[in-house]
Amino acid sequence: MKPTYRLITLGLVGATAVLAAGTGAAASTTDTVRTVDAQDLMRYNALHYDVSLEYRSGSKDMGGTTTLKARATGALSRFALDFGGGRINRVTVNGRPARFQASGERVLVTPKPLADGAEFSVTVDYVVTRSNGPDNHGPWREIEDGFAIDPQRYQTMHHVYPCKNDIADKATYTISVTAPAHLTGVANGDLSQTRQLPGGRTVRTYRMAHPMPAHDGQIAVGPYSLVTRPGPDGVTIRDVVPTAQASQLKQTLARTDDQLRWQTARLGAYPFATYGIFAPLGTISPYESQTMTTISASSLASGPMDYLRAHELNHQWFGASVTPVKLDDDWTAEGHAHFYGTWYDSEQTRPDSPDAFAADMRMNYDMDQEVRDSEGPPATPKPVSGQTQRVGGALALYALRQTVGAQTFERIERTVVSRFKDGVMSTADYIAVASQVSGRDVSGLLKDWLYGAKTPPMPGHPDWKSS
Ligand SMILES: [Zn+2]
Repeated sequence: MKPTYRLITLGLVGATAVLAAGTGAAASTTDTVRTVDAQDLMRYNALHYDVSLEYRSGSKDMGGTTTLKARATGALSRFALDFGGGRINRVTVNGRPARFQASGERVLVTPKPLADGAEFSVTVDYVVTRSNGPDNHGPWREIEDGFAIDPQRYQTMHHVYPCKNDIADKATYTISVTAPAHLTGVANGDLSQTRQLPGGRTVRTYRMAHPMPAHDGQIAVGPYSLVTRPGPDGVTIRDVVPTAQASQLKQTLARTDDQLRWQTARLGAYPFATYGIFAPLGTISPYESQTMTTISASSLASGPMDYLRAHELNHQWFGASVTPVKLDDDWTAEGHAHFYGTWYDSEQTRPDSPDAFAADMRMNYDMDQEVRDSEGPPATPKPVSGQTQRVGGALALYALRQTVGAQTFERIERTVVSRFKDGVMSTADYIAVASQVSGRDVSGLLKDWLYGAKTPPMPGHPDWKSS
């Protein structure tokens, strides 16, 4: 659940960046200001990020190196990376030092000119400072000796390392986190290597072999243990828990197996090799990153959290593997997560009631008009809380299921998760698949639900009255 972040990120697309001229770390906003078109500066596709960060106890500064492999989508005499987290020391492009200018949350890089279609590699050496700024809108969550990322507070990963902060430009990742030996460096993805370094440091390297949206990462350091076990269908379950609470959390973490089985029974194979819960110390908002759901250890210890865990797990299919193109498509992630989270929770809490899911959907129906009035329709949401994407999006899916039947609905869902796997999906894409698979034109039905100012009637439930 991170609509705020998505919104802010997407708001930048097509915006005009104002960059202060200057060179290197000495760049200053008092230098000559010039305006450049942001889209021209982003004419490249991100292919792979190699990110290294080193945490030192007692310091808010972390040294880092990020190498981005990318492909130019136009002739490039300069390009930009998003970075709002600290100080850049050096930039190279294809191994050659490149001029760079930093201002605000962008870095403008001037390489040796790159041809349209050329693959290139840009390496940025930097120091990132874990500071959330005076408005506390940054992503950092500090603990006594360590930190975690809370990306839903604000656009995030470009506060941690330079990247192209575009939800639709997915890339593969290698993330290496170095920490003192008494702590554990954590990231989402598959742990591929653990190495000891001189000075009592350990570096852990995680690989994300499937393309990931830039905001879907997690990086953390703390007194954590990686607890790995085989899960259903060949998925490796890897939880990351405070070492001191590992035995206390074991029982609730075991529920993941059932949650995975339940969702794969409806959507098909889990899209990645690894899944698990990261249960950090301290206070943090729950959210999904690719292959890993973050829920604070204290929350996890407080109860089953069936809805939340099913909601976040569903984001592995809708959000991580199949990513919304832009904010207007965000309901395809949040609507699905709310739909399946509500469905799973209804079965867990009222297993003897076949009408439990319908009853919960009716509660959503009863509030939908009020949500539309304040936040807009699900597929043209206002920048508010994301509630319309969740409530209206889930109701749109429920209305579709009521119309085409449960079996056809499941075929639609399985088709979209396989067709758009590791890619992006728009609202129009979803509607087209729904019509194609069901063999009937459901575009009118879905458009009424997704774009209408008024809550439509719910098929099969004439007694449901919109307020
Ligand atoms: Zn969500």
